[in-house]
Amino acid sequence: MEEEAEPGVSSRTERKAMEKAKILQRESDRKLVRLVGRVLKKPEAERSEEEAAVLLLHGETAEELCKRQVRRNVLKRKQEEVYDDADELKSKVKQLAAAVEQAKHLVVYTGAGISTAASIPDYRGPNGVWTQLQKGRTISSSDLSKAEPTLTHMCIRMLHKENLVRHVVSQNCDGLHLRSGLPRHALSELHGNMFIEVCTSCSPVREYVRLFDVTERTSLHRHGTGRRCSHCGGELSDTIVHFGERGTLEQPLNWKGASEAAEKADVILCLGSSLKVLKKYPCLWCMNRPGSKRPKLYIVNLQWTPKDDLAVLKIHGKCDDVMSLLMEALNIQIPVFDRAKDPIFSLATALRQEEVNSHTREVIAPLDGQEVCFPGSGEPAEEATAVLGGWFGRGQGKGRKKKKKAA
Ligand SMILES: [Zn+2]
Repeated sequence: MEEEAEPGVSSRTERKAMEKAKILQRESDRKLVRLVGRVLKKPEAERSEEEAAVLLLHGETAEELCKRQVRRNVLKRKQEEVYDDADELKSKVKQLAAAVEQAKHLVVYTGAGISTAASIPDYRGPNGVWTQLQKGRTISSSDLSKAEPTLTHMCIRMLHKENLVRHVVSQNCDGLHLRSGLPRHALSELHGNMFIEVCTSCSPVREYVRLFDVTERTSLHRHGTGRRCSHCGGELSDTIVHFGERGTLEQPLNWKGASEAAEKADVILCLGSSLKVLKKYPCLWCMNRPGSKRPKLYIVNLQWTPKDDLAVLKIHGKCDDVMSLLMEALNIQIPVFDRAKDPIFSLATALRQEEVNSHTREVIAPLDGQEVCFPGSGEPAEEATAVLGGWFGRGQGKGRKKKKKAA
């Protein structure tokens, strides 16, 4: 028909007309939404007859806007940080202490909230180590190893030693549970450990614990660290499990330990985790059992978590505050982290001579006052592109330092 006569022109004209109509429609929809929104914002008593009529006429739009507002409010509330006041905190911790004492098999689940006091975000923040390095400043090793086990890590280790905690399941990759002295058999690092690289060509999988973050060249689905296995020559991989990946390594993930612990648990204490990721692992929650047969849930977190409704007790406080009150209530002393006794030094495998320059991350040093020298202030940015990635997130690693000579 017309299209056949002048196919190009006609269809183009039609298409343009349709596009224009769509644009006009969207424009008028937006106007309507704005109008209805304005009316809704007014208190009912202040609305004119005309405005009330608008709401009646566009009931659907009004309803949709109200729903949207509710959703926004819920989302906002879920993100808010809530603090229990001092008295409430104390009385809640008393309840928690009783649960810890009475538990037959207490398992602890931890998330990022227990490490914030370890200055980990500051690693690359405005005053972070990398920023300082970029300005050409020399940083002493005490600054570089700021990420140390927190009070919470030390309390958990102590509670394990006292046989009050049986197992720890962590979604943190920072290795701080291990460095606190918690034995490996009592730990499941579900998302890996930034200090561990493995050779999966060796059987069983061969593990290399390092004194530095091994993830600088790795990212989602790219786990090669660039170093090689000293036994078989196979390429080493990091152990990090990124969002959207399924971790299959036996260690450090230790899923077996985690699921056995959950199976036996009568109390689960969640510390500093939003539980948004952990909730997706059904075996951690015994969801196949009826509610009354599941472990009792205690949650310490400042924000809302999807498990709040199932918890026996929700404590809104910082983990370090809650844990120090808990230890006081249990009358157990909190050990202080001693870097010289950091277990990572005995676990670590030294780099071979030819590997010494295979990374640009700072090395954990056993003693304070050991200066690490970084002469690379004027180097080109080439190297920066090579060190993107890692588990801290993209695009911030700009390491330019030279390696300290192996001691
Ligand atoms: Zn190997």
